[in-house]
Amino acid sequence: MGVSQFARNIAESPTMALNEQARLLREQGESIVHLGIGEPQNKAPQGAIDTAATALSAGKIKYTPATGIPSFKKAIIRYTEQNYGRTVSPRNVIVCAGAKQAIFNALWAILDPGDEVVLIAPYWVSYPEMVKMCHAVPVVVRPADGALTPSFEQVQRAVTPRTRAIIVNSPNNPSGMVYSRELVGALVGLCEERGIHAIMDDIYHKLVFDGATTPSCYDFAVKDTDASSVVVINGIAKTYGMTGFRVGWAVASADIVAAMGRLQSQTTSCTSGLCQLAAEGAMLGPQDEVETLRQCMEHNRNVIVSELAKIPGVTLQKPAGTFYALPDFRGCLREGIATDSFELSMFLLSKARVVTVPGKDFGLEGYLRLSYAGSAAEVLEGTARIRWALDPSAPKEITIGKKVVVRDWL
Ligand code: PMP
Repeated sequence: MGVSQFARNIAESPTMALNEQARLLREQGESIVHLGIGEPQNKAPQGAIDTAATALSAGKIKYTPATGIPSFKKAIIRYTEQNYGRTVSPRNVIVCAGAKQAIFNALWAILDPGDEVVLIAPYWVSYPEMVKMCHAVPVVVRPADGALTPSFEQVQRAVTPRTRAIIVNSPNNPSGMVYSRELVGALVGLCEERGIHAIMDDIYHKLVFDGATTPSCYDFAVKDTDASSVVVINGIAKTYGMTGFRVGWAVASADIVAAMGRLQSQTTSCTSGLCQLAAEGAMLGPQDEVETLRQCMEHNRNVIVSELAKIPGVTLQKPAGTFYALPDFRGCLREGIATDSFELSMFLLSKARVVTVPGKDFGLEGYLRLSYAGSAAEVLEGTARIRWALDPSAPKEITIGKKVVVRDWL
């Protein structure tokens, strides 16, 4: 009652909903393995805690300028120089309440009703809903069956005169794939040439494995920052495991940043000053924890790859970054278990008490996203339970929490 037609058409974030479901089950004493959650378990870096604690004990936490505290913007400018090789000015930087708000505000600043935004499946769950919230139209590009990255030609074919933006997320949530230099270069080139915004969601750019690095979009952006249609999104949530601080940012032309700032000034006013200072502390403090986290995720990636290989019917392309894997479970779908990824995810939660996220929510049916952001022990336990639930050759009995459970469906 009283809810607008518009709001009715916006789906809840499935990952946030699953987190809540898992929390409630845990509260009831269930032994839940959470392979759904996208947040590292580390403590916030000491630099963040110290800076925030000093500000807090001084007791002067006030509004900040809408686009961010100057000293924190300086830290972002330094980060952009070090990691992207591009020098930008404070007018090219806006701080937001998480990368999520930075993406939304960028879309809001760019889109008119009916405009199109190209999304590349598998895509992060929030993109289509954010585009819809701007009264614009998501246009989804799907890679060839079995592939997790598109060809440049597939993306190019989706572009129409109404295309205003392409969202590029590499390393990718949910697949863990890192797009090739050639693909990133071609996409940025296409966008600059056609005046389409290239929204580069780089939130996982430090979490890459096997000695690889992610290419900087500015290697391919030939225009000056103020003339370029490139918008870089980043934040502290994944790199520093500081999800709850809610700090992210965008680097873009002064025009886009000013428009985002106007929108932000009328909605949230600014990002919490305390959290901006914490983020600054993390970025200016020692960086060894970033590498520790990366190594831990690479180890967990190796564990999940070898454990999933033991389950017949499951195929996985080895993730090259992030803390997600997107195995193809189509070989396990059958009557009595599940006919699609949503049913399979619910089946694994009810039978094996493992939280996964249906591929459908990322635009790729038949897959499940598994997060290995927790401990290697959780990955081992979760994958063992999945194998028990889906593999007829696995032993029929398993212990879940304190209960011995017998499989009676295979
Ligand atoms: N982009 C992607 C691809 C993500 O996975 C996430 C977080 N799950 C975000 C953006 C949002 O990050 P933040 O927590 O900084 O809002």
